Amino acid sequence: MPLVWRLVTGMVWMTYGKTGVRTKPGNLPWLRMSERNFIINGKRQLQEHLIGLRSKRSYMNSKPHAIVIGAGFTGCAIAYDLALRGFDVSVVERGEISSGTSGRTHGLLHSGGRYCVTDVEAGIECIQENIILRKIAKQCIEYNGGLFVALSEEDLEYAVRFEKGAEECGIPIDKLTPAEAINLEPALNPKVLLAYTVPDGAFDPLRLAFAFAASAKQLGAQFFTYTNVVNIIIDGQRRVVGIEVNGRANDRNYEFRGDVVINATGAWAGAIADLIGLPVPIVPTPGVMVAYDQRLTNRVINRLVEPSDGDILLPQRRMSVIGTTSFEVEDADYIPVVEDQVAQMYKCACELVPAVANTKQRGVYMSARPLIGEALKGRSLTRTFKCYDHAEDGVEGMVTITGGKATTCRAMAEKTVDLVCKKLGINEVCTTANQPLASYRTYYQEQVAK
Ligand SMILES: Cc1cc2nc3c(=O)[nH]c(=O)nc-3n(C[C@H](O)[C@H](O)[C@H](O)COP(=O)(O)OP(=O)(O)OC[C@H]3O[C@@H](n4cnc5c(N)ncnc54)[C@H](O)[C@@H]3O)c2cc1C
Repeated sequence: MPLVWRLVTGMVWMTYGKTGVRTKPGNLPWLRMSERNFIINGKRQLQEHLIGLRSKRSYMNSKPHAIVIGAGFTGCAIAYDLALRGFDVSVVERGEISSGTSGRTHGLLHSGGRYCVTDVEAGIECIQENIILRKIAKQCIEYNGGLFVALSEEDLEYAVRFEKGAEECGIPIDKLTPAEAINLEPALNPKVLLAYTVPDGAFDPLRLAFAFAASAKQLGAQFFTYTNVVNIIIDGQRRVVGIEVNGRANDRNYEFRGDVVINATGAWAGAIADLIGLPVPIVPTPGVMVAYDQRLTNRVINRLVEPSDGDILLPQRRMSVIGTTSFEVEDADYIPVVEDQVAQMYKCACELVPAVANTKQRGVYMSARPLIGEALKGRSLTRTFKCYDHAEDGVEGMVTITGGKATTCRAMAEKTVDLVCKKLGINEVCTTANQPLASYRTYYQEQVAK
């Protein structure tokens, strides 16, 4: 396996072993536990979904069936919200849960401070969801707080805009003198000129996705992993009635029929919509993250600047992770690791915390943001999200959700399911903000018990 690919898949590999996420159907070198369960336990469930079984059923008499494509943060949070509102839910994912962008993020529970000047809408969404996730997903979050630090005269000039932006977004900040900042974080660059505290946190990406998935599963949602969507099925009235998938464990194609299809495939959302010629202006915008083999600070350290490359150094368990960059690619499946960017991250990390220079690099990983936009470029693309009702494109029965952040995945799910309910004439409100998620540990427990 080439070194570059090893690095790209590093984060997921460390957790799942060999992922096979990009393995082509029929060319699966490893058979994993979930695949064995897929064949043994899943056969009965899959048969239920074969052509026509659900297609004639009216959801006036039974539960409406929603098919969610993609099991990243967004798809898992949507599955949970749908299940709470009484839907029968099938989630179809071509890899493992969280094996797309969600398994390879920085892991910053944004306070909104990063966006409060340049992208106020995203800043407000982040602080609101930060507060909710701390309540419902405690198990997945280290609530360590963060600092924005000024290291140059230019950074100091940004401070005025930062204070105004934080106030506008409702982000609580405190101004610190250099001595106070160093007292909180002794490894900080001693040249610090000014700092602000923000309510940042660090989340464990895999735990967060699995906590949403486990909560959905407890309410009856079914997850079909290693199942690649290859087509969207439309009837004569240009209404989406299901999907065709390829089961990667046995290289067989079959169909799911449902009342609504939700495209939650992040950076791949454009490709899925394109299967039936629907326009979704997604720009896969990757970034690199470099992990160092030592935890050097307890708080998230942000540079007090407009969003830019290498502006966040984050403690993740016993590591420190610096990120990130922002560039565009045609295909989110093939992201190059650019050595110059790795060197640039090292330089930025050393500026924030000089002790990085004495620390071993542990790994480099990349993934693509699903940013919305056509005319704008890279960092100018908004970090907020958008839900597309394809009825506006003349195709009923399908919605696409994309953009956003891990931090805002619950709100993205809420807006998506609100839209789905409205389309189907269902009068159920969202309750995901009010109750703690199930433990991420329970996702697989149930599977063993069956
Ligand atoms: C470098 C980087 C750092 C980031 N850091 C942070 C951060 O610190 N904090 C934060 O809040 N946000 C962060 N984000 C943003 C956040 O990670 C993403 O917004 C989020 O992970 C997107 O989740 P998603 O579920 O929409 O997409 P994904 O996690 O990509 O999920 C989409 C899923 O769809 C599946 N799929 C694709 N095609 C098919 C198909 N044909 N059939 C079946 N399944 C399919 C994929 O396998 C994938 O699992 C970061 C993003 C990047 C790129």
